[in-house]
Amino acid sequence: MSGKTLFEKVWNQHAVRQLPNGQTQLYVGLHLVHEVTSPQAFDELRLRGWRVRAPERTFATVDHIVPTRRQLRPFADPMAEDMASLLERNCREHGITLFDLHSGLQGIVHVIGPELGLTQPGMTITCGDSHTSTHGAFGAIAFGIGTSQVRDVLASQSLAMSPVKVRRIVVRGRLAPGVYAKDVILSIIGRLGVKGGVGYAYEYAGDTIERLSMDERMTICNMSIEGGARVGYVNPDRTTFDYLRGRRYAPAGDAFDRACGWWTSMASDADAAFDDEQVFEAAAIAPTVTWGINPGQSVGVDGRLPEPAAAPPAESAGLSEALEFMGFRAGQPVAGTRIDVAFIGSCTNSRLSDLQEAARIVNGRHVASHVRALVVPGSQAIAAAAEREGLHEIFQEAGFEWRGAGCSMCLAMNPDRLEGREICASSSNRNFKGRQGSPTGRTLLMSPAMVAAAAVAGEVVDVRTMTSSVPAGAR
Ligand code: SF4
Repeated sequence: MSGKTLFEKVWNQHAVRQLPNGQTQLYVGLHLVHEVTSPQAFDELRLRGWRVRAPERTFATVDHIVPTRRQLRPFADPMAEDMASLLERNCREHGITLFDLHSGLQGIVHVIGPELGLTQPGMTITCGDSHTSTHGAFGAIAFGIGTSQVRDVLASQSLAMSPVKVRRIVVRGRLAPGVYAKDVILSIIGRLGVKGGVGYAYEYAGDTIERLSMDERMTICNMSIEGGARVGYVNPDRTTFDYLRGRRYAPAGDAFDRACGWWTSMASDADAAFDDEQVFEAAAIAPTVTWGINPGQSVGVDGRLPEPAAAPPAESAGLSEALEFMGFRAGQPVAGTRIDVAFIGSCTNSRLSDLQEAARIVNGRHVASHVRALVVPGSQAIAAAAEREGLHEIFQEAGFEWRGAGCSMCLAMNPDRLEGREICASSSNRNFKGRQGSPTGRTLLMSPAMVAAAAVAGEVVDVRTMTSSVPAGAR
């Protein structure tokens, strides 16, 4: 008999019972809440006279609707103010810890969970946001859920779920300088497709993944959902434990050492069987840019946009639609595409190491005169750490706006948005039509370093050509 995957182990440990419909009632170890998908769920509890089942396992923050320029209350947008006030009231009524704007710990929900040590290996984690898969970087099974499921988890601390298959994605070899975790995940989604992961959990493995920092692993797991996978995870290891040691909600002292033993035991066994395996060579991955309207429509920065006529019939209509929306020509090089906006932020790429890499590119350079550029740290803690290093001054001197923490232009449920047909070089995770606030706005996804390079050049440019600023040493 073969060993077990991490997914099977975590699933089995959290299974409460089999439901008559064949699903499993799964216990939820950590429930993260934000202001957008929770008000209706709390209302339904109130209507039924129910309490939150496990407030000690429930943590909240405000992120989607917070303005990033002026964060004083009341917010100028009455709807944003309402949402923030409702979350405060709901947390107060149910005894839930809320990391609000005054806490010094506020930030994007998928940034602060790990940062506070709430996210730990072997957990089941839910949140009413698709990119909950981020937390899988720690060897957790983390699902994005809808509002009715938020209600279910608040009320019962469990969820009815169907198991999925597990695909191991092996990335091996060294990434070249100027190639980042964002390029790895865009390449994976580019090859396997945005629906390729439907019905799967993605286990990321191989020496390339093992060498990545926790920030980089989070970038990869964050976008699992963009490849159709229900969850994505990396097996916990020394890198994971080193990150967690000393964090506010991580076990301390002897309990930490005991936890490390248990966390290690949750990793996939060496002889675990997988439903599928795909192998990627790191050396073949270039800085990658999306050119279309889903994250699978990407190309290496030295590549050209596809020719719909040359594509299989099932794909050609989608390619034509994307080219038409974007206003691009089949076969044109992606490098040289003029941009209007540069956005460094989101739960994919707003962590300290992302800002450090971008700052290395812009240091001593200036944003092109026609480009509006902003940096939005993922959390107040990241903003403070970056400011201690003087990164904000590097960005500001280069012509970037330095903003307060929040989701900002990733989803534009706040004043940060594209106007008209603007093209945005963005370190976020989705390039769907209208995602960044303008129905006709256009998004090019790329790494923070590539966004920084595009901001300076005023167009998509290969960050590897900015050799003096790209950090030396391949990983
Ligand atoms: S940054 Fe974007 S993807 Fe992440 S939680 Fe906010 S809106 Fe969702």
